[in-house]
Amino acid sequence: MNIVLFNNDLRISDHQPLTEAARAGEVLPVYVVEPSQWKGTPLSARHFQFVVESLEELSKGIEEKGGELFLAIGKIETVLDKLLDTYDSINLFAHNDSRLMEKIKEWAQQNQQLLFSFGPDLENISVKLLNNRLNSYLKEPIAEVPNRIDVPSKTPDFLFADFKKLNNFRVKGSKIRFGQQGGEMKAIETLDSFLEGRFANYIENQQKPLPSSLSSSRLSAYITWGNISVRYIYQKADEKLQACELEEDKIQLAEFLSKLTARVKICCMKMQHQQMAGVRGIKTDWNEDWFQRWLQGRTGIPIIDAAMRSLEKTGWMNFSLRAMVTSFIANTLLLDEKKPSAALAELYLDYEPAVHDFYIQQQAGMIGRMKIIDPVKVGRQLDPDGTFIRRYIPELSKLPDEYIHEPWLYPAFYQLGYEAPMVDVNKAYKNARLQYQAIRNEGKPGRKKEEGETEQLSFDI
Ligand SMILES: Cc1cc2nc3c(=O)[nH]c(=O)nc-3n(C[C@H](O)[C@H](O)[C@H](O)COP(=O)(O)OP(=O)(O)OC[C@H]3O[C@@H](n4cnc5c(N)ncnc54)[C@H](O)[C@@H]3O)c2cc1C
Repeated sequence: MNIVLFNNDLRISDHQPLTEAARAGEVLPVYVVEPSQWKGTPLSARHFQFVVESLEELSKGIEEKGGELFLAIGKIETVLDKLLDTYDSINLFAHNDSRLMEKIKEWAQQNQQLLFSFGPDLENISVKLLNNRLNSYLKEPIAEVPNRIDVPSKTPDFLFADFKKLNNFRVKGSKIRFGQQGGEMKAIETLDSFLEGRFANYIENQQKPLPSSLSSSRLSAYITWGNISVRYIYQKADEKLQACELEEDKIQLAEFLSKLTARVKICCMKMQHQQMAGVRGIKTDWNEDWFQRWLQGRTGIPIIDAAMRSLEKTGWMNFSLRAMVTSFIANTLLLDEKKPSAALAELYLDYEPAVHDFYIQQQAGMIGRMKIIDPVKVGRQLDPDGTFIRRYIPELSKLPDEYIHEPWLYPAFYQLGYEAPMVDVNKAYKNARLQYQAIRNEGKPGRKKEEGETEQLSFDI
């Protein structure tokens, strides 16, 4: 029996395992809700909601081809054992970046069943080879959607197709109302609207909190859960780039493509996390009250609070805000970054462990330089008139522009009903810089910042 194991590839377009399995004969498409993926990890109810929405659409797509998507809840090894009991011999088809791949591979070896895995082999190779293999993979033809998916006449009783049964599976956290909705159609619509025109101000708006939510692609959650393949996005964007008449448009799309490929590289390169000596030594004792206020968007520092409240509501933030909230808790407040990192991962709908961990480490100074971002000064650069702050902090909606980043200076501050800042942000920022300079220079006095030198705002690898 040919069994397609779906995981973080919830689509039928450009799905090579499904295409090849359908060519081989009858197919049993299966999605296993594996508890180890959902319990004791940062995945939360909002991720589960996205996955269920994606599965519902996937199920319809498979039905249209004559097949049926089956669900199971349990350990992947147990599910495979039961499938083997039913069919005597099974051929497994999956993408090699499936989050369950290691377990599937081990099971297939132990039980001497065939495993066909698809996707570029990019791990543990040199950067040059990785670039070559990735480039050829991205240009390969898209896998065809099967014309027909033939279901086997016999299916084991433990598999089910009724999505209501997934309600019994409890995942921590709560669902969101204003986040992106999962599913292949939504992913394709998002890509189409980006390429039809949203991309025009991609670079200019990429750091601005509200404009970036419209002019960046917003494909990250769809890529994380595999509602769309990177190869499909790459080819469509490249096609558009070739057809663009304006040089300006080509530049925007080239930048987008470089981000897209950076993601693939981060996911497969085992980053050497070189912890800078001493960074751990300057951390302060854990302060649960600071952590909770940061998480709930109640620090009293408007740009941080607006960012955290927007994340809670929508599941998304742009790169600069992600960097800023991480820098604030880990570098300005000097708290250990592990708990904040897990809390953020629970909220980002596009949470991809390799990418998230890489940037948290980078922002917290474990890779390269520690970036201490001044939330007032950089806040002013990102959201000069406070439109984003006013959107997410109604208490500040009527505050004059001049006070929007430092409401505590407003004469009638206590009538606003907004939190007083939990720390003196200037002092905390300066203290963190001094501490960091000291360990960087191993006791030598730090270089004085030159007039007009701004905070680092270029975060790309
Ligand atoms: C602390 C921190 C944590 C992050 N965690 C994640 C995460 O878990 N998942 C995730 O997809 N991105 C993560 N990012 C990178 C980036 O912020 C998001 O990819 C981006 O904001 C997604 O929005 P978009 O789809 O509109 O991106 P676009 O700008 O439209 O980019 C297109 C695609 O390229 C990829 N991409 C974009 N920027 C980057 C980048 N700088 N590095 C690597 N890939 C990129 C994403 O897949 C994105 O969907 C993180 C950044 C930081 C600073």
